[in-house]
Amino acid sequence: MKRIGVLTSGGDAPGMNAAIRAVVRAGIYRGIEVYGIYHGYKGLITGNIKKLEVSDVGDIVQRGGTILYTARCEEFKTEEGRAIAIEQLKKFGIEGLVVIGGDGSFMGGVKLTQLGFPTIGIPGTIDNDIPETDFTLGFDTALNTIIDAIDKIRDTATSHERRFIIEVMGRGCGDLALWSGLADGAESILIPEKTEDIDQICDRLSRGLERGKRHNIIIVAEGVGSADEIAKKIKEKNNMDTRVTVLGHVQRGGSPSAFDRILGSRMGSKAVELLLAGEKGKMIAIQNNHIVAHDILDLLTKKHDFNESLFQLAKELSI
Ligand code: ADP
Repeated sequence: MKRIGVLTSGGDAPGMNAAIRAVVRAGIYRGIEVYGIYHGYKGLITGNIKKLEVSDVGDIVQRGGTILYTARCEEFKTEEGRAIAIEQLKKFGIEGLVVIGGDGSFMGGVKLTQLGFPTIGIPGTIDNDIPETDFTLGFDTALNTIIDAIDKIRDTATSHERRFIIEVMGRGCGDLALWSGLADGAESILIPEKTEDIDQICDRLSRGLERGKRHNIIIVAEGVGSADEIAKKIKEKNNMDTRVTVLGHVQRGGSPSAFDRILGSRMGSKAVELLLAGEKGKMIAIQNNHIVAHDILDLLTKKHDFNESLFQLAKELSI
């Protein structure tokens, strides 16, 4: 293999740039050429492809987002769209591809692999919703962004003796809510993996009030529903006023944490190593601090492991 490509697809995540840099430099270090494909699969179809040199990925390891831009591309979901993509890859002489993105992007990669084009995935999403990896790229940074925001909200919650409901991202996965809730000592954490009765939350709020606790932090994962709805229910049941903060896209941005920079670097380098070893249809993962690879088709049939013990711990510590 003499020439490979790299693209970012789906939602952006901090650490993607570190992974791009690693793919480019690990490739060049091993004597191959690396091409950047811009705007995800859309760029693959339109031929928005450019050779990347060592200096093109300088000064990006500390930057959030992705220098290759990202996009969603409906056309790539069609056979015709993928046929055009393969043509483009052939035209540029690209023989292998690294796809940095979420499970949707991996499906796209698998389809290319099935057409005989080797693809390796790197899990880049703040949601931590990918099976068989302890962490996805961007999760740690998003978690720290959330914690920073909650700390600030807590200051005002304490000063004004208010109850705050904070809605965080994660799609169908509750990890951002659970980990930030534990890290920030939230009184309640609502996640899709554990449907907690609104009555239980209201009881806890009442018990707290009896003990003289007049401020509370409740974290809601977006996969559970809207924080406004929860606020309405608490008002109906307990006649308690709450303030709602939806953190939104601030969670996706920012300079990547040291953890995500290192994770991106390790995963990017491993992806190149695997492509050069003739591997395909695999996703890079981190498990017990080891960088490993799993068959994508296999892991797409699985669900990300829910950390029950962390949930229990958060509950225990918020009595
Ligand atoms: P994520 O990768 O973050 O899960 P999406 O699910 O939006 O994001 O997928 C990103 C892109 O991957 C889509 O816009 C599409 O181009 C491609 N993709 C997703 N699912 C498939 C599929 N089943 N077949 C082919 N391509 C797909």
